[in-house]
Amino acid sequence: MKGRVVTFHYVLKNKGGETLDSSREGEPLSFLEGSGEIITGLEAQLRKLKSGDKSQITVPAVDAYGNYDKALVLEVPRIQIPNHSNVQVGDQFRAGENAQDSRLLRVTKVTDSHVTMDANHPLAGEDLFFDVEVTAIRDATLDELKHGHVHGAGGHPH
Ligand code: ZN
Repeated sequence: MKGRVVTFHYVLKNKGGETLDSSREGEPLSFLEGSGEIITGLEAQLRKLKSGDKSQITVPAVDAYGNYDKALVLEVPRIQIPNHSNVQVGDQFRAGENAQDSRLLRVTKVTDSHVTMDANHPLAGEDLFFDVEVTAIRDATLDELKHGHVHGAGGHPH
């Protein structure tokens, strides 16, 4: 197995030109190719770039955080919610048996009797617009390939 570690700066904007996220105030991001550390639509375009390249990359929602799925919006009786007397819009819960298949649920509406929760990713349904600059590309180490993530600066902290 072979792989490269790509390090890049990015500014992420939505369709309206609003900045959602940026690496510019901090360290650039590093990922191991093929590891699933970043969204597939972004990785596919970054793979075509060389160190020092700047590019604008548009990732349609389906290749980013998926289309918005109404079936992932749940209304449940308030009594079933942990800490239900204090639950507020914006609260988040982990649901699921274990860490692998758990989903983050965001509370989007609270009434006296019911709580509405949304399991869509906050960026589901959004086309994403990245300004990227590749700052370094190197071969992955054997340990990185074994672990499936990047070590060192910008990588896994162990
Ligand atoms: Zn590791």
